[in-house]
Amino acid sequence: MQFAPHPEWQSVLMGILAAAEAAGPAGVIAFDLDSTLLDNRPRQAAIVRDFAATHGIPALAAFQAEHLLTGFDTREALARAGLDADSVARWLPELRKHWVERFFTSEACLHDVPVRGAGTYARRAHATGVQLVYLTARPERMRPGTEAVLRRFGFPMPGPGVQLWMKPDDPSVGDDAFKRSEHARLASLGRLVAAFDNEPGHVNDFRSTFPDAEVVLVATGHSGRVSTLEPGVRVVPHLAVETEPPENL
Ligand SMILES: [Mg+2]
Repeated sequence: MQFAPHPEWQSVLMGILAAAEAAGPAGVIAFDLDSTLLDNRPRQAAIVRDFAATHGIPALAAFQAEHLLTGFDTREALARAGLDADSVARWLPELRKHWVERFFTSEACLHDVPVRGAGTYARRAHATGVQLVYLTARPERMRPGTEAVLRRFGFPMPGPGVQLWMKPDDPSVGDDAFKRSEHARLASLGRLVAAFDNEPGHVNDFRSTFPDAEVVLVATGHSGRVSTLEPGVRVVPHLAVETEPPENL
């Protein structure tokens, strides 16, 4: 399910920057990467095109990121690209295997692009002096590609005041458990001003550990593992804060 943005969502985002300014280096903002700061649909589209080339599936040869609406709707996206229902059913299991083998690689993630407004917002947050933590369930082996993409799009880079925390290269550690396990480490850095994630389960966990922080769901799409939000979680559609009214109004 999709969540409606907070009616004053731009004020929520601006309020977090103001709180970060007040906290300075004693404060911390945590950002998830996939579907929060980075849009991985181009990565997924490249994987689908590679699969189409490997198996000779003309209907998917021109598969584009835009066929994916959220990044979590592969089945529907294949149909949107023109694959008939029988072929979707036939190819989906093999595509999933192909996807899993490639999606979590440093090379594949070089296709990623920023979520709307994400680079500017992260830079503005960094400029307040608050500490930034990129808290991602990407495995450690994706660090080189992840840093390359952050650098390419001008995100604050790991260094003084900026950290990139990734999941160990151990498939037995689940994303949800990994993120929860990092809460104590986050708390040890300073006061959590805000946490941003696209997964309802992750924001609910932040909400329960950090009741005084602003917890923001970036509603670009989610896995569906959890589909309810705890009270107090703020929903934003993306991270582009309009500081000037659009010219055509
Ligand atoms: Mg995510």
